[in-house]
Amino acid sequence: MIIENIEDAENAAFPYQTVIIGGGTVGLYAAVELSKRGQSVLVIESGGMELGGFDPSTYATTGLPHEGIRIGRSRSLGGTSNLWGGQLVEFQAVDFEGRDWLPDSKWPIRYEEIQPYYQKTYTNLGFIDEVQTDQRVFEKVFPETPSFAEGVEMFLTRWLKVPSFAAAYAQEIQTRKNLSVLLHHSVVGFNSLKGKITSVKAINRHGEACEIHGDRFILASGTIEICRLMLHAAATPGWDCPWRNNGNVGAYFQDHFVGRAGTVHPTDSRRFFNTFCNFLSAGYKFQPKLRLTNKTLETIPILNVQGTFCFESSISENLVFLKQFLKAAVYSRKVTGVGDLFRNLLACAKYLPPLMWKYVIENRIFVPSSSKISFGIQTEQAPIRESKITIDSSVKDPFGLPKVILDWRHGDQELSSIRDFVIRCDQALRDAGLASITIPDELMNLQPSFLAKLGDVYHQTGGCRMAESESDGVVDRDLRVFGTDNLYVIGASTFRTTSNANTTFVALTLTSRLVDHLAPLE
Ligand SMILES: Cc1cc2nc3c(=O)[nH]c(=O)nc-3n(C[C@H](O)[C@H](O)[C@H](O)COP(=O)(O)OP(=O)(O)OC[C@H]3O[C@@H](n4cnc5c(N)ncnc54)[C@H](O)[C@@H]3O)c2cc1C
Repeated sequence: MIIENIEDAENAAFPYQTVIIGGGTVGLYAAVELSKRGQSVLVIESGGMELGGFDPSTYATTGLPHEGIRIGRSRSLGGTSNLWGGQLVEFQAVDFEGRDWLPDSKWPIRYEEIQPYYQKTYTNLGFIDEVQTDQRVFEKVFPETPSFAEGVEMFLTRWLKVPSFAAAYAQEIQTRKNLSVLLHHSVVGFNSLKGKITSVKAINRHGEACEIHGDRFILASGTIEICRLMLHAAATPGWDCPWRNNGNVGAYFQDHFVGRAGTVHPTDSRRFFNTFCNFLSAGYKFQPKLRLTNKTLETIPILNVQGTFCFESSISENLVFLKQFLKAAVYSRKVTGVGDLFRNLLACAKYLPPLMWKYVIENRIFVPSSSKISFGIQTEQAPIRESKITIDSSVKDPFGLPKVILDWRHGDQELSSIRDFVIRCDQALRDAGLASITIPDELMNLQPSFLAKLGDVYHQTGGCRMAESESDGVVDRDLRVFGTDNLYVIGASTFRTTSNANTTFVALTLTSRLVDHLAPLE
């Protein structure tokens, strides 16, 4: 049930077993999964049904330029899943096990404890068994599983059919009696009794304050807002904040660096396109990418980088329009811009027959063979303490929350890791007789100007990292905030490292694990 005022919420299922702060991607996932296990759940969401953002006066950056703080977040039901494409990517074992040469890279939980939750999470998100592992998809789609030298391997990313979690869970929210979503309320503080959070303080869009009680609380308001709220709570006089003296709150902020790192020249075009173009299997979309094998990452000191083939043709924009049009028509039943539809159809008229053939008969996404191909990279960054989120309490937003200041920094290994990765991919593609990559001199010569041209990619990570003890992090291996009995954090803010992979799938996986911990199946 969706409600807009607290009186309705209290009548609905009070007292709530779980109160989730933030109705975005991981918040809604946690809410639905906990409610499926019979828990009474209230989600408190700052935004509404319409797409909203964060006022620019509420944040600033002092370190590297960071676009995501401005355009990579959404204050609305479904959160940032309203903006994303829904691409799910797994972390590798080495990402959790740590690397001796990379300080702070070891997680307190092992890959073996997380990996079983990959499958559970895919299932919860609606993926059928046969598409849950790369191996099974490779066997179905490729006559021979593509293999590469130089420690390089091909892997697959999976795409959700309905990217917006507000849309995907609309029916669950409407029909589940034990699940309520309170819109237009921003959580601004906590009340507690000896380490047990008893209630949160919230303010609605009319400026009216209320307190909402529950047995346990889960912070799911996105990396930057979680840090803002926790730092603000710690700075609030008169409240004995359990994490007041924890200097790790806001520290070790990370994102991925993303950009182009070369031009690709296929040597065997047909095989190249058949290997690396996106394809469909059992109705799901997959994108083949390159990365280093786990063994390689364990043995050489290199950050985890992924490589993507980016195809650009004279009709790229027309194809994007057609894709968006079809998606809106199928999933939102919205048909607007019919004039544009005809203009775009006309522009790619000569490609429509091969496009339809590829899609319907071969289950592949059509790419004109004349496309320019660049090699895109997305790289892990070294976790460093000085890269951090702080607050400026002298400037407050209408809810009384302080301005957030992001000082994003990188370490010493990013540039050389990108270069070494691209060199290996070039050699591996040559050895496979598929393609070669022309690598820009700026990257080959490790000029810092290359790194300066890369941007963030909206994967805000860290600030509440998981640790064995309070001296090293903010949450424990069960995502519980140190010093509290019943306050948990979900989302990428709890990660210690970022792998090469988009962060949300692992954030959802850790949430699946938390759901098992909080509401085990009998
Ligand atoms: C264009 C784009 C493409 C992306 N593509 C991908 C991708 O393909 N794969 C991937 O893994 N990741 C991708 N990402 C990143 C991904 O979308 C986010 O990392 C993820 O959605 C974050 O989920 P979250 O639940 O932690 O936060 P959010 O989804 O941002 O949800 C946080 C929610 O909390 C609410 N909130 C904030 N403060 C408060 C408060 N004080 N009280 C109450 N509520 C509050 C917000 O309104 C919001 O609804 C992309 C991001 C963008 C912008």
